[in-house]
Amino acid sequence: MSDVHESGTSAATGSTGTTPMVLAEGVSKSYGSHEVLKDITLEVKRGEVLCLVGPSGSGKSTFLRCINHLENVSAGRLSVDGHLVGYREAGGKLYELNPKEAAKQRRDIGMVFQRFNLFPHMTAIENVMEAPVTVKGVPKAKAKARALELLARVGLAERADYYPAHLSGGQQQRVAIARALAMDPKLMLFDEPTSALDPELVGEVLDVMKGLAKSGMTMIVVTHEMGFAREVADTLVFMDEGIVMESGDPREVLANPRHERTQAFLSKVL
Ligand code: ADP
Ligand code: MG
Repeated sequence: MSDVHESGTSAATGSTGTTPMVLAEGVSKSYGSHEVLKDITLEVKRGEVLCLVGPSGSGKSTFLRCINHLENVSAGRLSVDGHLVGYREAGGKLYELNPKEAAKQRRDIGMVFQRFNLFPHMTAIENVMEAPVTVKGVPKAKAKARALELLARVGLAERADYYPAHLSGGQQQRVAIARALAMDPKLMLFDEPTSALDPELVGEVLDVMKGLAKSGMTMIVVTHEMGFAREVADTLVFMDEGIVMESGDPREVLANPRHERTQAFLSKVL
């Protein structure tokens, strides 16, 4: 049995204005004997942007996957908007959510991956409409109007009827962002959203993400784009081998990294 079942239940009380959007308290995650996340404690407040950086294999994607219910934590407590991820509290006890309940919790979280994974046989607007129509039962006309609004927001209104194959990587990624926004998430997770793009296409995606941050969206962004982190992030977290090595104001962390490993990593990406 993991610590999750045995620990207290005070965090699972639902959201209020001051509840952090994401709260990780001593979160660990192991695959067999390999401990990939080690005692992660961090908080993302409503409307904040946290940038997560670190070498390949340090556990960044695993952390996002835990937040997004794609993995269970092995120990510690992880909550989104005051609700324990994957668990429900009743009568002072914790119960694991069934797949249907977990899917419901996940709907509030938008995720954007390195590979955009658009449905290739659907146009841009059909991609954006898909989940609201099939998952939420939104009438097609309404979903279409909203999808067009979202495509306009990412600068692609005039590409609504294009298939992914006829869009650039940057445009496909912007459609993927619009698709995630169509479910009205309260939290957006980005896992290296610009890493697969040609350099000249990175800026247009980062600009959309900046706009989203300005609009007040709570975001966790795994990225190697330090300019973006410096400009947009409220907090920069440097993770190495599953440990939060450093965390703080991005300008401070970037100007005065305290740990040797942070310095070594930054010297490679800056
Ligand atoms: P990052 O995103 O920082 O590159 P990951 O979270 O993808 O790191 O991976 C962290 C570590 O966890 C790596 O050593 C990886 O091999 C391991 N890992 C990730 N997913 C699994 C899995 N499903 N089973 C076993 N090991 C995994
Ligand atoms: Mg990764």
